[in-house]
Parts: sequence; structure tokens; C-alpha cells
Amino acid sequence: MTTIEDCRALDAQDPLRALRDQFTLPEGVIYLDGNSLGVLPKAAPARIAEVVAQEWGQGLIRSWNTASWFDLPQRLGDKVARLVGAAPGEVVCTDSTSVNLYKVLFAALSQQKDSGRRLVLSERSNFPTDLYIAESLCRERGFELRLIDERELPGVLTEEVAVLMLTHVNYRTGAMHDMKAVTAAAHAVGALTVWDLAHSAGAVPVALNESQADYAIGCGYKYLNGGPGAPAFAWVHTRHAGKFEQPLAGWWGHAAPFEFTPHYRPAPGVGRYLCGTQPIIALAGLECGIDTVLAAEAFDAGQGGMAALRAKSLALTDLFIRLVEERCPDQGLSLVTPREHARRGSQVCLSRKEGAYAIVQALIARGVIGDYRAGDAQMPDILRFGFTPLYLGFEDVWNAVEHLVQVLDTGEWQRPEFNRKNAVT
Ligand SMILES: *Cc1c(COP(=O)(O)O)cnc(C)c1O
Repeated sequence: MTTIEDCRALDAQDPLRALRDQFTLPEGVIYLDGNSLGVLPKAAPARIAEVVAQEWGQGLIRSWNTASWFDLPQRLGDKVARLVGAAPGEVVCTDSTSVNLYKVLFAALSQQKDSGRRLVLSERSNFPTDLYIAESLCRERGFELRLIDERELPGVLTEEVAVLMLTHVNYRTGAMHDMKAVTAAAHAVGALTVWDLAHSAGAVPVALNESQADYAIGCGYKYLNGGPGAPAFAWVHTRHAGKFEQPLAGWWGHAAPFEFTPHYRPAPGVGRYLCGTQPIIALAGLECGIDTVLAAEAFDAGQGGMAALRAKSLALTDLFIRLVEERCPDQGLSLVTPREHARRGSQVCLSRKEGAYAIVQALIARGVIGDYRAGDAQMPDILRFGFTPLYLGFEDVWNAVEHLVQVLDTGEWQRPEFNRKNAVT
């Protein structure tokens, strides 16, 4: 049996433990929801205040040049590139994940419009916004969206498929695709790939270029700690970069916005992903968040920090799984997330036929913040726990499971106040 002393010994040996000092975490909280909203970097309030008081307040319009506001989406994109296996100049930070998905999927569909292919494949279990965006785009552009289950890959890939659109790490189950193998299988039948990295960027190593992926987008406010509604990012492989068609052809994606010409001429590379004037204050917050992840670079010889973070993330999730199995047997909890490291993101999900929502609420009342996701025909309701190695330690994992044990053993979760649904779960 694993003990609290074992967990403390792991903390004592953890090379990354000082990285927690980069964050402001509320007293008495074990935060297992960094996969929904990352925590506040200590540097963010001062940096945002500086942007407001100095760059906006004093610099005013001059700050577009003097404070380098103008190229901020590209500068932050270069930082994100280090985390997702891309090169400088290949990523921009802008707009929301949903809007960026619209742009990249449109671009991929445009590329396939004369190919005779009419199918877009995605997973039934994909995040709903991804499916909604794909549904509306397919309707508008004359394609058919077909929803599949993971186990149908690669068999469903045929010459009819125009685009395979997947989320790399599933938001509910934490299961991770083999990006390189799936991309190769898609390319073998002539399909393009669109990858959503919402639960991957800053969470697991991603190798966009090595995988030869076509298009990718990701989220700024989850593992990148950019703040609520932080701008997202978009990437395209260089083989498409000078050619892809972006539907939201605003002036910020123009090759020379300040020439004010009447006709659109797209910027040469990923710059054309931009649409309108960028939210500078939000981008400043996002930069503080990205920097907290890049701080891990010091521990893995400049690989963006993801090798070091990944090792700790797997150790944390392994420990959580082991402790739940040792300490909560016969409590109706089933492990949903794959045990196999190569198939696991940075979260662990447990399903339970009854009470998943209320158990999560009871844990939150005790300061252990995870979240709940409704089940479906194939899977009961889910208790979801995200593990961000930047600020979580092994004793935190012990304590979280200790609370879970108590909530289940005492039946505390059955109290009425834990069974009333809130608007945001
Ligand atoms: C979180 C998440 C999003 C969020 O999209 P927004 O536009 O930021 O609301 C989209 N897709 C996936 C897969 C996500 O996990």
C-alpha cells in the first residue's frame, strides 16, 4: 500500500517543485481543474496593470509600435511553437478556439473542394463546439460530417474522406491519439488532418511537424494558464502556409494592413489567421501563462519543458490511479482514462453510475476542485481530475484521494446541497 510518506518522498525528489512558486493558489485548495481553467500566474496582475497604466495609459496609440503590440500574436505564437513541436513563425495567438477551428477547417475544406471528396470525419465524443462548428461549415460548404468512434480508426479512412478532424486528447476521457500514426493513415488515403490541441498544449508533448500534421489549433486558458477566455492559437504546416484560404479575411490578416488598400491580399504565412484588432490586455495575460510553462525548459535542455513536465504528469496520474484503486475499492468507481502512458493525457477520469455530480460538489466544498461531465449511452457520468505538474505535488494527490475516501465512506455526497445543479459544471 502507498503511504503519505511515500508521497512526501516523491515531492522531496521532484526537480520541478519550485515551479509552483510561479502561481497564486488559494489557501486550502487542491486544484485539479487546470484542464478547464489554469491558475493565476503571480506575474500576471502586475504585467496586466503595467499594460493598462503604462502602455495604454501613457503610451496610447504609440504603444502599437513602442510596446510591440503589433506583432504580439506572432511573438506569443513563437513561444507556443516550442510547446507543440512547431517552428518560429508557424503559430499565432488570436481569437478563440472555436473561431480558430472555423478558420482552419474552412482552409482544409477549401483545399479539398475540387478533390471530389465530401466527407469530414470526427469523433462522436469530440468536444461539442468542435462538432457544432464542423456541422455548420459542412452544411455551408457542401460537405458531410460523419461521426465515428475511436475504435473505428483507421478503418473508416477511405478515398472519400476530405478531412479528419480530431481532438488530440479527449476532453472527457483523457485518452490521447497517436498523432503521427493517425496523420499518416489519413494522408495515405489523401485526407487532411485538423488537430485540436485544447487538452494537449502545455499538458503533453506534441510533435506537429514531426507528425506531418496539416492544421492545428489550441486553447490559451487551460494548461497554458492564460486566464479566462484567453486568446487561443492556430498553426499550419509550412507546406500549406503560403496557400491556405482563411474565411475571416479581416485587415489584420492582410499583407500590409496600413496600406489601407480596397482589396484583400493575404499575409504570406500564419499572419493571415488574424482577423481584426487584437485584445492586447488579454494577450499580455496569456504571455504570463505561457511563460510559466516555458519555465520548465530549464529542466529538459530546452525541449520546451514538455519532456520534464510529461514525466511528472505521468507520475502524478499514475499515483492518483493507484491510490484510488488501493483506497476506494468497491465504491463503484471505474477508470475511464487509459492506463497506457502513450494513450493518456494529463487527466484522470473516473466514471460512476450514481452520484458523480454530487461527489464532485462534495469534493469542491472540501477544497478539492475537479469537475463533472455527463455520461452518455456508452459511459456513465464522469468525475474529471486534471493534473498540472507545474503546481501540483504528490502529497496533493494523496490529500485529494483522502478527501474522496471520506466523501464516499461517509455518504457525505448524498446531502441535498451537493445534488443541486449549477449553471457551469
Ligand atoms: C476547451 C475546448 C474548447 C473551447 O473552445 P472556446 O472557443 O475557447 O470556448 C474547444 N475545443 C476543445 C476540444 C476544448 O477542450
